[in-house]
Amino acid sequence: LSSLTHGISRSLDGLAGSVTDLFDPPLRLGVTGLSGAGKTVFITALVANLLDRGRMPQLVAHSQGRIETVLLQPQPDLTLPRFDFESHLTDLMGSDPRWPQSTRAVSELRLSFRLRPSGFLGLTGNTRLHLDIVDYPGEWLLDLSLLDKDYSRWAEETLTRIAKRPEAADFMAQARAEDGSLALDEPRAQGLAAAFTAYLQAARGKGWSDLTPGRFLLPGELAGSPVLTFAPLPQPASTPRGSLWREMERRYEAYKAKVVKPFFRDHFSRIDRQVVLMDVLGAVHAGPRAVEDLRRTMAEILTAFRPGANGWLSRILGGKRVEKILFAATKADHLHHHQHPALTAITEALLSDARRRADFSGARTMALSLASLRATVEDSVQRDGAPLDLVRGRLISTGKQAAMYAGDLPTDPARILAPAREGAERWLDADFSLMGFAPARMTLKPGEGPPHIRLDRAAEFLIGDRL
Ligand code: GDP
Repeated sequence: LSSLTHGISRSLDGLAGSVTDLFDPPLRLGVTGLSGAGKTVFITALVANLLDRGRMPQLVAHSQGRIETVLLQPQPDLTLPRFDFESHLTDLMGSDPRWPQSTRAVSELRLSFRLRPSGFLGLTGNTRLHLDIVDYPGEWLLDLSLLDKDYSRWAEETLTRIAKRPEAADFMAQARAEDGSLALDEPRAQGLAAAFTAYLQAARGKGWSDLTPGRFLLPGELAGSPVLTFAPLPQPASTPRGSLWREMERRYEAYKAKVVKPFFRDHFSRIDRQVVLMDVLGAVHAGPRAVEDLRRTMAEILTAFRPGANGWLSRILGGKRVEKILFAATKADHLHHHQHPALTAITEALLSDARRRADFSGARTMALSLASLRATVEDSVQRDGAPLDLVRGRLISTGKQAAMYAGDLPTDPARILAPAREGAERWLDADFSLMGFAPARMTLKPGEGPPHIRLDRAAEFLIGDRL
């Protein structure tokens, strides 16, 4: 009997959940960006500021005093990892603050708002909003392009693209020496996959962003499984059954069917609003090739938001679209605020092709630069008789305070974009430097959220209309 009542109460719980969702449909906010773009810090800071009602003047519902309570609640998807908000916040705001562990897979967090109604005489508007924040690696969106390619095309395109990259030299030598028509030898297949993964890791270190298959860098619980034990190979003259080539082909197809498609079907397709974070300053610092690579990669990532670009995805989406997309250049606290408009302009220019080509009709888009957690303060010094605006912070490497001037970001983004497109090796007339700042020690009073730059603007654009 007890198991029966348990079963009934469980299904009633489920019913209550679905009834609640019927009346208060949750809003699903996707947070993505390439590795290191700043997703983990963004979500942690956003949630902390919303929970503590931090300095969020640009969030209209907040400045109008309409947000009564904000709570973390159990998330609806019971099999998805929960975004580890509490540990990340402890890392950022403890006595020895440090940056938290970055995003490695998809995770989720539900934030529930109780709101005072906003309309005429207070008669309209929701009184409750569930916000489901879904964090996932941008690299996984790149995998969409694999769905249209069979193994032989993917292998050929990949080998052609990476052939001249020094980081790929070891893998290329190993792949060229391989004869795919010979019978599969598992240790050799593993060796090839390991060499290809090592290439992807080295390429990421060098600032390349075109790093598919996305799970090779962020494997999660799939590490070591056969769906991740493949690599691009030169096509042999014959591909008999049981050959290395055939097995690679089978695993590549399994990767598409068992890894890529479920992610798009179960998570991506349910997103209502999306923020795409970009480390534009990091790319500018790494040089023209990294900027051009970021531009190309973002264009590829954005095809996922382009209805019709992929037949399979259009069928899954069934006409549903992301309503708003925010493109945010992160880590703007490396610059004095005088330079923020230049950073935003470069971000917009980087995306302009993709935005022009993409039919985002129905989706509103905006670009801005922000810092989820401000690690620096602004300062001004005299240099050669003129004032130089810069920032100061505590260096990760030494723990000491240092001043930094990142360089003259041109106000005309073409001065960054053009040399990048033309394949320049380095910036000719400028130098850009970056320092790794640690999060600052914070002495917040109760009710104060961590300091940030324009996190409230981002929140207003993404969810303000539903508050
Ligand atoms: P993810 O891989 O997208 O989850 O990236 P993270 O959120 O882990 O951020 C990667 C790194 O970028 C962090 O470890 C920090 O070093 C840096 N970072 C992220 N956000 C900020 C920010 O607002 N200000 C500064 N100064 N650094 C940041």
